[in-house]
Amino acid sequence: MSDPAPGPLKHVKPAVRAVAAYTLAARRAPVKVNQNENPYDLPEALKRRVLEKALLGPWSRYPEFDPKELLERLASFAGWRSDGVLAGNGSNELIEALLLVTVGPGTRVAIPEPTFTLYALLTRVLGGEVVPVPLGSDLEYDAASLARARRESKAALTIVCSPNNPTGGVLPLDDLRRLCETGDGLVVVDEAYHEFSGQSAVPLLADHPNLVVLRTFSKAMALAGLRVGYLLASPELVREVNKARLPYNLNFISQAAAMAAMEDWPALERTVARLVEHREGLFAALRDVPGVRPYPSRANFILFALEQAEPGPVFESIHRRGVLVRDVSAYPRLSRCLRVSVGSPAENQAFLAALGEALVESRVAVATEGGAGR
Ligand code: PMP
Repeated sequence: MSDPAPGPLKHVKPAVRAVAAYTLAARRAPVKVNQNENPYDLPEALKRRVLEKALLGPWSRYPEFDPKELLERLASFAGWRSDGVLAGNGSNELIEALLLVTVGPGTRVAIPEPTFTLYALLTRVLGGEVVPVPLGSDLEYDAASLARARRESKAALTIVCSPNNPTGGVLPLDDLRRLCETGDGLVVVDEAYHEFSGQSAVPLLADHPNLVVLRTFSKAMALAGLRVGYLLASPELVREVNKARLPYNLNFISQAAAMAAMEDWPALERTVARLVEHREGLFAALRDVPGVRPYPSRANFILFALEQAEPGPVFESIHRRGVLVRDVSAYPRLSRCLRVSVGSPAENQAFLAALGEALVESRVAVATEGGAGR
């Protein structure tokens, strides 16, 4: 490279300087539907139970080195063996630990495009090579091209977020099974949104030692603020990933909260069912908005394309009306798209009203510009 970095930056790896940071527009709004969070907070009684437990424990001591009780509970909750589970500070941390032990200079990682950006970012930071695999023409998963890319590139890892963020589609279980069986590269199924999809790859774990499943408490389990995620895989692989996990990564309050959320799963499951219903209502409403094309979703968010208006100004205009959605127009193939999380019925109504007004505003702006130009 002919352009040496100035000062301390010369010590930063070129691959790191070349990537853009993972960012989020830090904005506030009365209706926050930009991060696929659960609009229904956990009940106060549960929070009190967790805090009372926290009051009894010594805060001056480290949490358990191996949070055995939590790992066992996670294993029975997910239907997998406890020596095949790792818990992390959000699933983000486990994505990092997994890539740290598998990706080095030149390692190929097949990553659908578009998908959750952390995978490509960390692959590049670690010097690996991203093998992009385009989604199909309607932004659905294309199992054949994923399998082909995996085979031809001899990818060490293939990433499948199912449901995918930000498009909402799933890769059917039969395709996932076949993918695990084409070659011995790892298949990483990120199930951050699986509760909303009614599908999970966990039953495939027993017969496929190259499968890794990642899950989070940040979405259906309503615990994004306390940062809990988990990884499920063969015990051999888990032992290796564990080497890159930081010691004491999960504080004991988050551990207690995760246990409490699992105890309250029947109530959370009802919330998930409500959100799935709201999602279908929101999808139908979006389909009826002229100039808007929503993509079918199995998650708790909906991607939609604006056929006439520009997403940037529409995002701003929606925000001025008190609703914060996610502008995903910088993602590959999504230059016309925004993403909205499924909120409560009142939030969904507020969003639809704001979107309707924003689209009128954008038509007026186009007409005015057109008039001025003539
Ligand atoms: N995977 C996917 C596909 C996601 O969309 C997200 C959250 N945006 C995560 C992982 C990270 O979740 P967390 O770190 O909160 O567990």
